[in-house]
Amino acid sequence: MSTFLFNRIIFGPVRSRRFGKSLGINLLPVTHKVCTYNCIYCECGLTLEEIEKNREWPAREEVKNKLELWLENMSRNNEPLPDNITFAGNGEPTLHPAFPGIMDDVLELRDRYCPRTRVTVLSNATIANRPLVRQALTKADNNVLKLDTGTETMFRLLNRPPKNLKLEEVIETLTLFKGQLIIQSMFVQGYINGQYIDNTVPGETTPWLEALLRIKPKEVMVYSIARGTPVEGVKPVPFMQLVKIANMVKIARIQAEVY
Ligand code: SF4
Repeated sequence: MSTFLFNRIIFGPVRSRRFGKSLGINLLPVTHKVCTYNCIYCECGLTLEEIEKNREWPAREEVKNKLELWLENMSRNNEPLPDNITFAGNGEPTLHPAFPGIMDDVLELRDRYCPRTRVTVLSNATIANRPLVRQALTKADNNVLKLDTGTETMFRLLNRPPKNLKLEEVIETLTLFKGQLIIQSMFVQGYINGQYIDNTVPGETTPWLEALLRIKPKEVMVYSIARGTPVEGVKPVPFMQLVKIANMVKIARIQAEVY
C-alpha cells in the first residue's frame, strides 16, 4: 500500500477525523521520515537507518515565519480559522532540537491570530523523559501521546523501537505527565511476514489497560488504520471491535473515544 510524506513545513488545513480543520506543522525533513519508532502501520513509510542520519531540520525562525504568513493570509482573506494547529508530519516532532522553543512560538502566534484554535501535538513520547521536551508537550492544549500496547512482545512487533528502548521505560515516562495527556492507541491485525499480529485480543488489551490505569490520561483515542501502510498485510480493525475496546476503558473510568 502507498504511503506519503509532507512536502512542506506548514501543510493543510486538512480535515482530520480527530482534530477537525487542522493546520499541520511538519518539523521533520521533507525528503524522508525521522522517528525513534518504525511502526508497521506508519503512513509516512519506513524509518530507514541510512537516511535517518541525514537530518535536515527547518530552522526555528523559518517555522515561525511560515506559520505567521499562513495565519496572516487566512485572517486577511477571512478564511475560517483552523480548529487545531497540529504538530504532526514526517515522523516524531520532539526530535527537532528546537522543539521547546518552537512550541512557545506556535502558542504565541496562536494567541495573536486565532486564540480559539487549539494547539495539538502528536508524539510517541520516547524522548519525553527529557524535562524540556516534557515541559513543552505539556504546554499544548492537546498533548496526544502514543501507547499501542502493554506488552514488550507486541511493542517490538508493532512499533519496532530501538533495541535499547523498553516498553516499561515509555510507560514510566507517560506517568511523569501526571495525567496531563491524551493517549492515542492504534489497533491493527493481520499476517505480517507469516506471523499473525493482533493487539485487540484480551492477552493484549488487559496489560494495555493496566498501563492506562497507571498513566491516568484525560482521554484515550482508540483508532485503526485509514490510509496506506508500509508493511504488507496490516489490516484495519472493525469499528465495533474498537467500540468494545473503548468501552473497556470507560468501565475503568477513563474517558475514551473511537475515531
Ligand atoms: S511513531 Fe508515528 S511517525 Fe513514528 S513510526 Fe510510528 S506512526 Fe510513524
